[in-house]
Amino acid sequence: MSRSHDLFAAAQQHIPGGVNSPVRAFRGVGGDPIFFESAAGSKVTDADGKSYIDYVGSWGPMILGHAHPEVIAAVTERVAKGLSFGAPTELETQMADKVCELVPSIDLVRMVSSGTEATMSALRLARGFTGRDKVVKFEGCYHGHVDSLLVKAGSGMLTLGEPSSPGVPAALAELTLTLTYNNLDGVRETFAKMGSEIACIIVEPVAGNMNCIPPQPGFLEGLREICDQYGSVLIFDEVMTGFRVGLGGAQGRYGIKPDLTALGKVIGGGMPVGAFGGRRDIMEKISPLGPVYQAGTLSGNPIAMTAGLKTLELISAPGFFDRVEASTTRLIQGLSELATAAGVGFSTNQAGAMFGLFFTNAGPVTNYQLATGCDQDAFRAFFQAMLEQGVYLAPSAFEAGFVSSAHSDADIDATLDAARTAFAKLAG
Ligand code: PLP
Repeated sequence: MSRSHDLFAAAQQHIPGGVNSPVRAFRGVGGDPIFFESAAGSKVTDADGKSYIDYVGSWGPMILGHAHPEVIAAVTERVAKGLSFGAPTELETQMADKVCELVPSIDLVRMVSSGTEATMSALRLARGFTGRDKVVKFEGCYHGHVDSLLVKAGSGMLTLGEPSSPGVPAALAELTLTLTYNNLDGVRETFAKMGSEIACIIVEPVAGNMNCIPPQPGFLEGLREICDQYGSVLIFDEVMTGFRVGLGGAQGRYGIKPDLTALGKVIGGGMPVGAFGGRRDIMEKISPLGPVYQAGTLSGNPIAMTAGLKTLELISAPGFFDRVEASTTRLIQGLSELATAAGVGFSTNQAGAMFGLFFTNAGPVTNYQLATGCDQDAFRAFFQAMLEQGVYLAPSAFEAGFVSSAHSDADIDATLDAARTAFAKLAG
């Protein structure tokens, strides 16, 4: 038996399900989760000493690859000066200046410690700013485990939401309207009925939590127009896409300016960080300037700011995103060709250094219904065959994949070699 197996058994004694975040338990793919020991560049090494080419990247943050020497050096130097002060540091100003420079829709930004905190705070701010309670989200988009956003669509169009987890009060879920991603007509219909009660639309501008689904042309533009028409706040949840699908995030890539943006993952370079920011007149409603309360003991933590700042500096190098995007394209085109050659029904999506793999004959996947209609048994078999050959994909059919600047052509070639065997197994 593997050491990962023993460690998982031990972990279950005092950790619910043996994990500190549910997807890590491998329930979506079967088998024991792999316990990691270390990582460097494009590779992670498990507790048994086996190394894998990693396309999870800690679920997005590691766009420079793991343990980038410059990030580690900056953090190591900073650690010696103290771990947390709970008082302002110059690093926070440097971070705010950098974020506002890279994401022009952001005039003011507040640091937090997770993506969930960022979306939760943005939602409270949108409600406080507009004086309205209802919020619109999209089926299949995940915004962290915020009560108001753990809500699924009620039965039928234009019905109010139902909690998707016990513990979320129905009275709160009723304020959340869950609509279909990439379907503007549904949004227009909903606003025509109750637009004056809707505080905000929150959307992943490229959906990355129902696999990877980019916006259809016109979708984000339409959301912008509808929010302007009804005086609602447009929130882009760029926790995943920020500094990932391009230096200016999805809003830079698609040229749409949201009112508020939630950030996380890459902005912390692997440390626990999130941020939310946007239009000055809205952000000025946050305490201590305004009445909308928001706070955090570890917000703007100096170690986290150091890791994030160094990461943002390195990804700002000219040509960085062109290179990482080209590697991603090479990977998914290679996979598509191999699937076709093996006769396996397969479709891919890509936005920058983010990708999605779908086992389907139905063509392009553009929303949650199509994503959930894919062949999940085929995904599981593919995942396990790749894992066996030393390629670590996200252990769920509903997560995006990530490529880093540390992924070399040789890594991509090795991945494609493994995929040839995996597709052949599926076809056979
Ligand atoms: N928003 C999006 C788009 C995410 O992908 C995630 C996490 O995967 C979150 C919010 C929540 O971030 P965190 O897990 O840091 O709380």
